[in-house]
Amino acid sequence: MADDVDVQGVRYEELAARYGTPLYVYDSAVLDAQFSQLRAALDPRLDFFFSLKANPNVAICARLAGLGAHAEVSSLTELLTARRAGVRPENIIFLGPGKSAEELQACLAQRIHAIVCESLGELRLIDSLARAAGTIAPVALRVNPNFSVKGSGLTMGGRPRQFGIDEDELMRQNGLSSRYPGVRLMGVHVYMGTRILDPGVVADNSRRIFELAERLSARLDFPLELVDVGGGLGVAYFDNEQDLDVDTLAGLLNPVLGEFRARHPGTRLVMELGRYLTAPSGIYVVRVRYLKSSLGQRFAVTDGGTHHHMAAVGIGSYVKRNFPIRLLGTATGAAEPWQVTGPLCTPNDTLGKNVMLPPLRTGDLLGVLRSGAYGPTASPVQFLSHGYPAEVLVHDGRPYLVRERDRPEDMMRRQHLPGALRARPAVPVR
Ligand SMILES: *Cc1c(COP(=O)(O)O)cnc(C)c1O
Repeated sequence: MADDVDVQGVRYEELAARYGTPLYVYDSAVLDAQFSQLRAALDPRLDFFFSLKANPNVAICARLAGLGAHAEVSSLTELLTARRAGVRPENIIFLGPGKSAEELQACLAQRIHAIVCESLGELRLIDSLARAAGTIAPVALRVNPNFSVKGSGLTMGGRPRQFGIDEDELMRQNGLSSRYPGVRLMGVHVYMGTRILDPGVVADNSRRIFELAERLSARLDFPLELVDVGGGLGVAYFDNEQDLDVDTLAGLLNPVLGEFRARHPGTRLVMELGRYLTAPSGIYVVRVRYLKSSLGQRFAVTDGGTHHHMAAVGIGSYVKRNFPIRLLGTATGAAEPWQVTGPLCTPNDTLGKNVMLPPLRTGDLLGVLRSGAYGPTASPVQFLSHGYPAEVLVHDGRPYLVRERDRPEDMMRRQHLPGALRARPAVPVR
């Protein structure tokens, strides 16, 4: 295996010296390649919407927008981020089961492409807010379908969920499309699950979602201006996994898209992509602080841990599986098993168990690969008051700091110590 020492010619040691560790490093060339490969393979009339949830950094979003990605957002800040990243309102959709009135009003004011509605109560609120604003809200219905699929890291359909409206309940809503004068029903959204690595599952999902969308639009009498087939495309993290084969996916999915388009030439087709677009481009860089052994096992205690990278603890599984972890330097000696742990005072703060690494030295840099999705934003960054790590994007051979590290004063700033609670000096000891 070649030594991992640089990204686009910029050495990790240089990045660590300049920005400190722990540090997230994103490689724009990998981001570009991941996007472009999928873009080239799939039907060009399928729109890609980047799910900011996976990585809400504005620079990442801007890069993807520059490549042609649109945005799927789920909070006011994500909406503002997408706008600041240059995504036009007509290329933004907003979803989430608990949208606030403020968020819905922002969607209306910005005139985004669609609000993805997740409950009948929300539909009533959208209607009243739209009428108060003197506008008509474009709304896609998020459906909790009766069917479910295997082969996803998380099964969504066919079970009780807080997401979307049950298919059966929707089918009973006679006259829904004309019930609310402030609402224009215009589409259907279904999200079947995440971490899907089987192209057949993606194609099957999409086919069934198209059928469902046709049934719903006929039953409730609204046009299909938008059908969002969710996505949930995965990347391989663990030893037993393989990356999704893009050519196989294209071979199976493009005919499904083509058939639907033949019947509905005017419908905008959307796929949401979070993890798939950003995971491979990110690496979490940590420095080894201490080496020790305990009851026969080697430990490398690093300055970074699960407070920045909760996913490394194990994604939805009870058995710990390791993300790929590498020495970012030159190996001297044969690989041996290491426990790679962080600075938190909990045994769960383990980035990798029995990771095969060459003999380590204090000060070595280690990298947790494939970490560009669901990193710090999906982690308890406040734990032990460590705060957010720095993030650097390397683009055209140059590093850019795209997020500053939280400092202790940042962590303290938003706390208040009322005078009444201020500790009095203890009674002096004579
Ligand atoms: C989380 C989420 C996504 C992104 O999922 P990935 O697996 O990261 O692609 C897309 N759509 C919805 C509705 C989501 O909840």
